[in-house]
Amino acid sequence: MSTRAQQFTADVLGRRRLSAHLLRLTLGGPGLADFRSTGIPDEWVGLVVPGQFQSRYYTVREWDGEVLTLDVVVHDVGLVTEWATRPAVAGEQVTITEPKGSFAMPEDAGWLLLVGDLTALPAMARIAGTPEAARVPTHVWAEVPDELGDYLSADVDVTWLDQPADGSSRLASVVESLEWPAGQGYFWMAGESAQMRAIRKHLMRERRLPPTAYDVMGYWRGGAQRQPRAVDPGPIWRAGKAAGKSDEQIWADYDAAREGQP
Ligand SMILES: Cc1cc2nc3c(=O)[nH]c(=O)nc-3n(C[C@H](O)[C@H](O)[C@H](O)COP(=O)(O)OP(=O)(O)OC[C@H]3O[C@@H](n4cnc5c(N)ncnc54)[C@H](O)[C@@H]3O)c2cc1C
Repeated sequence: MSTRAQQFTADVLGRRRLSAHLLRLTLGGPGLADFRSTGIPDEWVGLVVPGQFQSRYYTVREWDGEVLTLDVVVHDVGLVTEWATRPAVAGEQVTITEPKGSFAMPEDAGWLLLVGDLTALPAMARIAGTPEAARVPTHVWAEVPDELGDYLSADVDVTWLDQPADGSSRLASVVESLEWPAGQGYFWMAGESAQMRAIRKHLMRERRLPPTAYDVMGYWRGGAQRQPRAVDPGPIWRAGKAAGKSDEQIWADYDAAREGQP
């Protein structure tokens, strides 16, 4: 049996600017006929843009059975950024990999905290709209560079944090000074990898949360360092699950693989 991840060819149906740094891409066409959502609200796909072989990962903001919506952060330079901001992308074909997700809120969680930057906002919007989120007090902490007040539905309890003008992130210190709700809950966070590494340590050492109580993912790596390798989280995820690893260990393996470390 082939273990190769399934791929789909999708037509770019449209592009709409949601804010200075966020573009909405809608994809469709016959190549997506067999596409199926996992139903996991932070599910992502790999996106390969025309003329490139490397993929970048994007959250499935919505899949309605015909149209796949991805919300893409555009920043200074980047493979997808440069393609997505070209004058005409509608009508082009991209490759999409099969979706994977990792959000796994325990049944007995009494609250849900979602923390992230602009790249995490699509996932936080989807998670906040799930029945799991509706059944417990849910709060979103979103650090964004733009005015995006209507991105989340009006009933979502959200604290908008201004991102520093230099594009850096203060999410790690925000989380370190959070007032945590009482009892057991679920903490989901995604954003710049260095911030996420700091938070994993904080959750493990200071808060002593069990690995099942949180999911912290590095979505991109800042700074002028060597660009991390594009690594498909899917095989690492499956191998980690098969080996009985926790979500945290699996995401740490993913970070290490992107940085070319053992
Ligand atoms: C599971 C998962 C889900 C994700 N979901 C989304 C999503 O829904 N929407 C989304 O926009 N991104 C999402 N990301 C993050 C996205 O994959 C990265 O930001 C990716 O690097 C963008 O590719 P690029 O081609 O634009 O830039 P790259 O070619 O990868 O990077 C070029 C340069 O830009 C810098 N850079 C990369 N991303 C950013 C950023 N966001 N802000 C500032 N500088 C940056 C890098 O440090 C590098 O120096 C997700 C990542 C993962 C792992």
